[in-house]
Amino acid sequence: MTQKVDVDFGLCESNGVCMGIIPEVFDLDDDDYLHILQEEVTPENEQQIKEAIRQCPRQAISLKDG
Ligand code: SF4
Repeated sequence: MTQKVDVDFGLCESNGVCMGIIPEVFDLDDDDYLHILQEEVTPENEQQIKEAIRQCPRQAISLKDG
């Protein structure tokens, strides 16, 4: 089953930790708004996405079944 990245924007404080780990997936724009550039979890990005989930200080990132 495909998994997708989910961010709780009510929790996110736009500190960019996730973008520092995997900028191909997480991008903060000039207005400090976080965009998910690639929602889908793949074998290539899975480890880094899981690292971002671990390191997000707000625990705002999760995976959902897509
Ligand atoms: S690491 Fe967490 S709090 Fe920081 S920008 Fe990413 S989702 Fe938001």
